[in-house]
Amino acid sequence: MSTENDTPFNIARVEFTSFHVHGSHQWVFVEITDDNGNTGLAELAGPGATTEIAGLTAQYAERLRLSPPVSESDVTAQLGLTVEELEADRTKATTVSALRTAIADAQARRSGVSLGEFFGGQRTKSVQLYGNMNRSMLPDDDGPRDRSPEAFAAAAREAVRRGYKAVKCAPFDEARSPFEEPGLPEAARSGIDRILAVREAIGPDVALFVDCHSRFDLDSGIALEISLREANIAWYEEAVDGIERPDVMKRIRERATMDVAGAESGYGVGLFQRIIEGHVMDVVMPDIKFCGGAGEAVEIGRVLEAIAPGSVSMHSPSGPASQLASAHVTAAFGGTRPLEHAWGEVDWRPSVLEPAERIESGRIYIPDGPGLGANLDQATVEARGRHWTL
Ligand SMILES: [Mg+2]
Repeated sequence: MSTENDTPFNIARVEFTSFHVHGSHQWVFVEITDDNGNTGLAELAGPGATTEIAGLTAQYAERLRLSPPVSESDVTAQLGLTVEELEADRTKATTVSALRTAIADAQARRSGVSLGEFFGGQRTKSVQLYGNMNRSMLPDDDGPRDRSPEAFAAAAREAVRRGYKAVKCAPFDEARSPFEEPGLPEAARSGIDRILAVREAIGPDVALFVDCHSRFDLDSGIALEISLREANIAWYEEAVDGIERPDVMKRIRERATMDVAGAESGYGVGLFQRIIEGHVMDVVMPDIKFCGGAGEAVEIGRVLEAIAPGSVSMHSPSGPASQLASAHVTAAFGGTRPLEHAWGEVDWRPSVLEPAERIESGRIYIPDGPGLGANLDQATVEARGRHWTL
């Protein structure tokens, strides 16, 4: 007997939509519709999202028309792609992630269940977030913003006013290894001043996470940890690139008193499992835009949380579709860490989705409808977006 769950997913249509956010930053969406009119939504991200990655998405979709997947998890096999290839190639990993997320969303809609339920989770009303203030402080269309310690403090106060119980900043603009001096580099001092201003602004009870964007090395990363400890930092992210330099990351973690986090660009459950089982980091940050998609992220969450509870927090400085999908994913794998949200980019962000994105008091609310529970808002697409097919 055939059920809707073992029916091949026949792709009828692939459409792209992009929105200019600010500076060079944009949100790029792909919609994939099956031959019954079920449409799934996902995001493409990174350099080349509207060109190379969109092109590869259309090309892979064409191949999937000839050999349709039954499950979203069949996509890589149907495309003949190996895990090794996807770990090594960010463009392919991003493309596969978007296809799998969009197909899962469309399949969930076809089955009349939420995306979280589709992956075996319970229906969930809301998910706790932490507030990444970085995007609110990047250059906008009016040029660079103030990045003084006072400006960091003001942004942190705004995050607390918005209800976040944990706040993340990326303060080390001036630092970049290699450094000339041993120990704590002079170039890190301004970042530490920003952290101290933030801590003063938010008080002792709000958790503070620091993202170092891989600007340090072994010696400076160990020296910096001592300064972070003094500022009561709860989460030390990417002193170095923990995927490229796992041995260095592991040695920094051995000295660290707080959680060491990273691996935001990683692909596949195998990689994240090696990181946790190898004691390279305390917390991994899979991103549904790169890790293999929403289904792979649920798998990563379930496998790793069983090995080390609290070891997964989704990376999500994303547009509203990936944000919402990441909330479904976090609920589905029973994540206990808050989910990232990069607040403060543009005030029209909620209007990108219908129903509008709802983030209040540090939580994201999941709409009632099937799949993601939201679609691109056609009026906003017409007013601000660019829509195309390939
Ligand atoms: Mg990061």
